[in-house]
Amino acid sequence: MTEEVFTPATAERVQELSQNLSAVRERIALATAAAGRSVEPELIVVTKFFPASDVVALHGLGVREVGENREQEAGPKAVLAAEHGATPRWHFIGQLQSNKAARVLRFASEVHSVDRAGLVTALAKAAARRAETDTGAEPTGIYLQVDLRGEDSLSEDPHAPRGGARPQELAGLAELVANSPALRLRGLMAVAPLGEDPRPAFERLAALSERLRSDHPEARELSAGMSGDLEAAVAAGATRLRIGSDVLGRRASLL
Ligand SMILES: *Cc1c(COP(=O)(O)O)cnc(C)c1O
Repeated sequence: MTEEVFTPATAERVQELSQNLSAVRERIALATAAAGRSVEPELIVVTKFFPASDVVALHGLGVREVGENREQEAGPKAVLAAEHGATPRWHFIGQLQSNKAARVLRFASEVHSVDRAGLVTALAKAAARRAETDTGAEPTGIYLQVDLRGEDSLSEDPHAPRGGARPQELAGLAELVANSPALRLRGLMAVAPLGEDPRPAFERLAALSERLRSDHPEARELSAGMSGDLEAAVAAGATRLRIGSDVLGRRASLL
């Protein structure tokens, strides 16, 4: 990997980010009011594929929660951003191999993409080790990612990649997290299935969340909603929104 050079965001870029951020915050406010909710969900700005300079600019605009989905990209970006004064809380939201758990916990406070027992165990071990060396370390926040595809699409393509545990696996995974002192169960996370109306999918998620909370009342967060479906997520009760392209622009890989 080449050494990343830090070039501060231009005034034009800061302006663009500022306008995009205002527009997204406005949408969140409207969706919250439309849902009859009094508290707005928390905005996590997803900066994947964008440089550390954008994280620094966003930090300057008041963004304190940032999401990333690849460890190789996020680790160096977090270091670079910190060197330039930006220390937001980092949320890891991507597919994660168990052997990368310790690397992710070097920068991430919360992991939204936990979908199997092996990963819980690896994160628990890494978080416990970190707590030994850093006694002030907060427990790592854990969201269990749910696969929201209906039975029909699952049987067509059971291994299509979007990640997530099956609903019937959630209780066991939640127990495993709850029994790990260095982890804290925050709630559920999901991505709306491709090619489906997000509303019924997010309603299924909300029902699963309610069921989870009967055993784990502390697991009250719901991480759902991206640029294209934030209104549907807010209507279904999302408490965390993960917004990338509507704040940062189109990702280079999609151009
Ligand atoms: C990229 C990503 C997002 C943000 O998506 P946008 O459509 O750019 O807002 C949210 N959640 C996950 C898991 C992602 O990978």
